[in-house]
Amino acid sequence: ADALDTEWAVRWMRETARVVAENRVLLINLDRVIGDADHGENLDRGFTAVVAKLDSSEAPETPAAVLKLVAMTLMSTVGGAAGPLYGTAFLRAATSLGDAAEIDPNAAAAMIRAARDGIVARGKAEIGDKTMVDAWTPATESAETAAQAGATAPEVLTAAANAAHAGAGATEPLIARKGRASYLGERSAGHQDPGAVSTAFILQAAAETARE
Ligand code: ADP
Ligand code: MG
Ligand code: MG
Repeated sequence: ADALDTEWAVRWMRETARVVAENRVLLINLDRVIGDADHGENLDRGFTAVVAKLDSSEAPETPAAVLKLVAMTLMSTVGGAAGPLYGTAFLRAATSLGDAAEIDPNAAAAMIRAARDGIVARGKAEIGDKTMVDAWTPATESAETAAQAGATAPEVLTAAANAAHAGAGATEPLIARKGRASYLGERSAGHQDPGAVSTAFILQAAAETARE
């Protein structure tokens, strides 16, 4: 469907939970080499809790309400660096949507921008520091370019997902300057950043569910 509504937001989160669970070990292994091997476990716990919350509570009324539920759940269940960062991202994304029932192309791009800006405000990482910001920043730029060029909302999300995927891949040669991986200094080079890779999964889930 072209209209990104509350039902889409719920499908996005269920698909994210599925993809995170499927890639739990991959994310753990990425975090094992440059961190503490818990990123996959942290996110799987968080999105499993999100699905449980969606199953047990009354259906949220707006896309923003879905994202707010996600933010609260991730903040209270994920822990580590990624919990507060993704929590802030989803909270800011929710705020950017207001009480709109549907997300148009510009709102889709603004939602990604808001998430990215929230992560930067919270974690103070810059582009090139080998963090999830290296996926969110090109995703934001591509989403905005697509929206300005007249893309549909699913196309905006597809542009964001593709850019996030490329951004995550491009973290491989970088030396980490933020988070746990920065303790490794030059030895952090040669491996992709786990948070950048999980960002690509989350945005890929957004794009795939939007195209359905
Ligand atoms: P922890 O490092 O506490 O074990 P996770 O393993 O769940 O937390 O998450 C690690 C990810 O968090 C990193 O791969 C990186 O993408 C992201 N991260 C860490 N610190 C920052 C920061 N200051 N800004 C943005 N992202 C960060
Ligand atoms: Mg970790
Ligand atoms: Mg940890």
